[in-house]
Amino acid sequence: MAAKILYGKEFAARIKEDAKKEALAIKEKSGVMPGLAVVIVGNDPASTVYVRNKQKACDELGLYSVKVEMPETATKEELLAKIDELNSDKKVHGILVQLPLPKALKDAEDEVLNRIDPRKDVDGFHPVNVGKLSVGDATLTPCTPTGVIRMLELSDINMDGAHAVVIGRSNIVGKPMANLLLQKNATVTVCHSHTKNLADITRTADIIVAAVGRPRFVTADMVKPGATVIDVGINRISQGEGKKAKLIGDVDFDNVKEVAGAITPVPGGVGLLTIAMLMQNTVTAAKDQLGL
Ligand code: NAD
Repeated sequence: MAAKILYGKEFAARIKEDAKKEALAIKEKSGVMPGLAVVIVGNDPASTVYVRNKQKACDELGLYSVKVEMPETATKEELLAKIDELNSDKKVHGILVQLPLPKALKDAEDEVLNRIDPRKDVDGFHPVNVGKLSVGDATLTPCTPTGVIRMLELSDINMDGAHAVVIGRSNIVGKPMANLLLQKNATVTVCHSHTKNLADITRTADIIVAAVGRPRFVTADMVKPGATVIDVGINRISQGEGKKAKLIGDVDFDNVKEVAGAITPVPGGVGLLTIAMLMQNTVTAAKDQLGL
């Protein structure tokens, strides 16, 4: 039997609807609307699109939003000073610095992210929030893996006692994904580029989360019949000059969908949940800062 397709659109709409209701309740109680500041340095085309989409989502929910544009030539000191300013701005409850930073600031990335007040760290990348997540006490957790958890919950896919295999151990997807699944009482195996016999491990999984960054990496023979397969990967495949690149996931969707019980498509799957969770994190951060 072909798998149930988990389309991100409907889950993202649910998450945003809930965040909007919560934002309006905050406004009613405190007179303050949750606010998000997005800082973009330089003019990387993909980053410009991401920032525009984040602002569009804020507008859709009626959240206060600020876009801070800094030139490619901005210095580390100027960027840190801007973050300090946003840290003390009462109208701003969430701060996001769009990555990647321009080449000249690449080495300062950690210092820049660590300068954000942890209570305003809506990306959940600050070491304080990473630590809180690992001890199971986090308020703000990374958007993409948290979106995956919400999708599994809203789809009634059992995580308690399930064997979840996460492929990838990055700080932004793989590691927080594993921690969040642990908190849902899954038995978690984290696989990575040094893992031996990967297919033997994935074939025992009830849930597979692929965050590798390699097109069609997870094939049908790696999947247990009926398993849930979540594809976080976004691989841009060039279609030739002047043509729009094609987006392909880390899962061989056409073949895996014949074996899996549920599967997310790319595009149209997990990607849409990330911005929805960013909105939810902004609202959560506001609630926390306003003491509600
Ligand atoms: P990354 O490059 O930081 O990490 C990739 C991970 O894959 C590493 O931990 C590595 O050990 C593992 N890996 C590489 N080759 C492997 C192999 N042969 N076998 C097993 N593991 C292997 O990437 P990332 O930032 O975690 O992103 C992963 C993918 O998810 C990318 O395609 C990225 O574009 C996508 N992504 C999507 C969203 C979203 O919103 N949907 C957000 C973040 C990242």
